[in-house]
Formats: sequence, C-alpha cells, structure tokens
Amino acid sequence: MNIHEYQAKALLQQYGAPVSEGRAVLNADEAEAKARELPGPLWVVKSQIHAGGRGKGKFKEAEAGEKGGVRLAKSVEDVAENVRQMLGATLVTHQTGPAGKQVNRIYVEDGSDIERELYLALLVDRASSRISFVASTEGGMDIEEVAHATPEKIVDFSVDPASGLSDFHGRRVAFALGLEGDLVKQCVALVKLLFKAFVEKDMEMLEINPLIVTTQGQLKVLDAKVSFDNNALYRQKDVSALRDETEEDPKELEASKYDLNYIALDGEIGCMVNGAGLAMATMDIIKLYGAEPANFLDVGGGATKEKVTEAFKIITSDPNVKGILVNIFGGIMRCDIIAEGIIAAVKEVGLQVPLVVRLEGTNVELGKKIIAESGLNVIAADDLRDGAEKIVKAVKG
Ligand code: GDP
Ligand code: MG
Repeated sequence: MNIHEYQAKALLQQYGAPVSEGRAVLNADEAEAKARELPGPLWVVKSQIHAGGRGKGKFKEAEAGEKGGVRLAKSVEDVAENVRQMLGATLVTHQTGPAGKQVNRIYVEDGSDIERELYLALLVDRASSRISFVASTEGGMDIEEVAHATPEKIVDFSVDPASGLSDFHGRRVAFALGLEGDLVKQCVALVKLLFKAFVEKDMEMLEINPLIVTTQGQLKVLDAKVSFDNNALYRQKDVSALRDETEEDPKELEASKYDLNYIALDGEIGCMVNGAGLAMATMDIIKLYGAEPANFLDVGGGATKEKVTEAFKIITSDPNVKGILVNIFGGIMRCDIIAEGIIAAVKEVGLQVPLVVRLEGTNVELGKKIIAESGLNVIAADDLRDGAEKIVKAVKG
C-alpha cells in the first residue's frame, strides 16, 4: 500500500524527522488561508499523487499551465492560483504512464533554501532478506538513471538483524553522502529514526529524494515516498487509515475487497487461476505461445462460488481482455465450485470473448459436466499447454 507524500512526512515527523511545515489542501478556496498559516516568503505547491517525478511532469490540460506538478510560489495569492490550476487536472509523469493521474490533493509547504540535494532510501532487500540502505550524492534525480549511468555514485549496504542498527550505519550513510561536521550527527540521528519507523510500521520501501542540506546547514526530508507491506496491514490500523482508494486501480481495489490476489497487467489474455505458482506458470506459458497476460489472478485455495464470480467479473470488465483462460487445479478447491462461479458470472455480465477452461483435480468430472450442460460457448482444454495454445489461437487466430 502506498501513501501520499504529506502523509509520509507527518508519519516520519512523529519519529522526529526534520520536515518542513505544511498544509494539505483539498479545494482551492482554502488554499490562500492555509498558505497564510505558513511563514513564507517562499511556498512550495505540491501535487499529491501516488507517483514520483511530479516536478518534471506535465499536465494534460492547458488551463493547468506549462509548469510541472511541484511549483514554487512567492506569495499566498500565487499559491492559491497554482492550487486552482492543478486541482482536478491530470498530471503525467514517467511513473504514471501516459494516462496520468488526477490531482485531488495538494500539499502546500514552507519553502526551503537548498544547498544540496541527496538521495536516501530504505528497502526490504529480498536477496539478503534484510533491510538495506541506498544512499547517493545525486539527489533530486531519477535514481534508476543514476544507477544506470553512474553506478559508482550509489552506495548500498544491509543491516544485520542479529546485531541491529548502530551509529556506525548512520556514519556510513553520512560518508556516502559526503557530509561533514554537525551534518554527520544529524545524519546518524536521521538514519536511526528512519530505521525505527521502517521496522515499526512494516514498511516495504522508504525513499527520500531529495534529502536536502539547507543553506542553514540542516538536513531535511524534502520528499518522501513510502509503501507498506500489505500482509502486515492487519496490525497497522493507523497506516490502513491513510489509504487513498482513489489512487488505486479500480479492478485491484475491487479484487482486494474479495480477498483475491489480483494484479492488472498490459496484455490481452485474462487469467483465472488458483495458486500463485500455477498463476505464474500460466502467465509464462501464455507468453511462450506468443501472447501476453492481462492480469495475475490467484483466487486462492478455498474460494467460494461468490469469489469466483467476482474474479470473473473483474477480468471481463477489463477492455484489454480479448480472451480468458481459466486454469484450475482442484486440490482443496473443487472444480464444480469453479464451474458454478463461471456460469453465475457469465449470466450476470455476459461473455464477449473466447473462453478456454482447463480443469483438473477434485470433482473434475462434475465441473466439466456443469460447464458442458450450461450451453456456454466454452473451449475445453486437457492440460496447461493445450489450454494456453487454444486461448492464444482463439485470440490471435
Ligand atoms: P518529485 O518531482 O515528485 O520527486 O517531487 P519533489 O518533492 O522531489 O520535488 C521536486 C523538486 O522540486 C526537488 O528536487 C527540488 O529541486 C524542488 N523543490 C521541492 N521543494 C522545494 C523547496 O522547498 N525549495 C526549493 N527551492 N525547491 C524545492
Ligand atoms: Mg522527489
């Protein structure tokens, strides 16, 4: 789960992180009054969307002006004008994709005087099964670009969970960032509190780009991007409350309500599968036969008819889906339940695209019988390879 920059900053501030004072704004009328609560003489007007690269982004609407999604303002009137321009407009950045994202919230912040922009991130490193720090002197830039062009400017190391975090790690980050004197002390304190927040809140990633050195010689978190481990949200009620559903893919949101593991992808073949391993294998074999999966979907081991119906509806609601492959191995899952779910869904939403069904396992004969007798236009498949071949052929001819 992702949260907005202003929420991430408020969270980090609770742990003592140095951030600028700011106000979240939901409509243009309140912008001026809220800006007046900040000292000035410089304000930063920041679009809040769940994507990075806002500063260099472009708005689709001409009324939003030529500037990007992060703007400096020199007066409260200027703040209000920029809020008016950006609220409701669609911001396109390298992370949003060409469709862009609508800006529904703006964060107005007290402007900082920047001496240097740095990069600092914490993440769960799957290779080492540890929390890693990534630090670079090249802040305010696209870190993937830095990693590609000048990998020597990125320092990363992981923290041994047995010995935990110590000041040494903070000094290592400070050295990587080229900090000296009092800034080293500030960095050690910052690293400590970021690590604490990361662990306590079950974060998956915490990216500060840029972390700045102000002209007054202070370290400050100028941008913050945080994502949390969804599997830990049950014990993070405060974090769950920060969820902004308008930022999420509506299909993924719907799927999460039914406890389905669904991820939207760009291809044309919708997949309904049980078990993550089988789902991955199904996606692979679709690619092998020359097509692309439109989604990853694991309906789980003990899915009910209702769950299967919802899953099928989510797949068919995707306009990119040109064909559907149902691939079920009934272990705990019963094939007749799957069959009934599919039929119920088709009755409700219709079926405009070819459907290939491969069932195997518990109650397979009953499942096949239910589908055969339903009168649905279903192409039956005998195994995984046969199923993939048939659906790709049905879609691509
Ligand atoms: P992003 O483009 O989505 O990563 O948004 P950021 O919050 O990182 O802002 C983009 C850029 O705007 C930063 O790299 C800074 O150069 C600039 N910026 C943001 N806040 C301030 C500020 O308080 N003062 C100044 N002078 N520039 C800022
Ligand atoms: Mg940034």
